[in-house]
Amino acid sequence: MGFLKAKTSNRTIACSQRRYAARLTRDVRLLNFSLMSTSETVTFDKGPCPCGAGHIDQHVTTQDNPWSTADIAYSINCLKCSREWRLDNKTLVLRSSEAPYAAAKTAEEIARRPLQTLVRSIAVSHFSSFGARSKKAAHAELERLGLTSMSYRQYLEHVSKGGTIATAASPLRNQRWLQEVAKKQGLTEQLDNLTEALSHATKELEHASSQVVRKKSPNPSFNTDWRDKAAPAG
Ligand SMILES: [Zn+2]
Repeated sequence: MGFLKAKTSNRTIACSQRRYAARLTRDVRLLNFSLMSTSETVTFDKGPCPCGAGHIDQHVTTQDNPWSTADIAYSINCLKCSREWRLDNKTLVLRSSEAPYAAAKTAEEIARRPLQTLVRSIAVSHFSSFGARSKKAAHAELERLGLTSMSYRQYLEHVSKGGTIATAASPLRNQRWLQEVAKKQGLTEQLDNLTEALSHATKELEHASSQVVRKKSPNPSFNTDWRDKAAPAG
């Protein structure tokens, strides 16, 4: 009985080995096939460009294998319009209208920097007198004050890279705490001024963003007549 059983199981092993070998061969063939695979791009006309002389194209690229999904890209097939407009995925953006936005974005970044520097120094100064018994206690203190989104694991990683409880703190997360600590350090006026400057720059940025001219297709399939309806034809 034992012999027969052993024989059967040997045959089973041999059989599964053959199946495995066959599967391996098939996998190698598939791999070769994928390395040699070609793609095909089909271009669809998605309607006239804003000036009407050309059109917007959609390029759908498919790989000749069943597991890749199609890549979809868009382009403006008109020299004049591609100079004036750019495509942000499926939205046409007027290039000239983006300059004030870019300037406002730079201004906002410039306004943010001194505030971040001040806030960082407030945190460093505050935590210099905080003697945590352990890393766990330091992280718990940051959580108690609502000053971090880091998990304990992330905090340990931060510390292992040379970070401290002060650099792990994001003081802007808890404005009340920040105001209190700034007051103790005699920095209220400086903090208020820099906060006000950033708030102003952020409003300017929002306004500039709203002034960027974007044309979005009302049609989910992106089939749209992009010509400006406000301008009389001809
Ligand atoms: Zn055009």
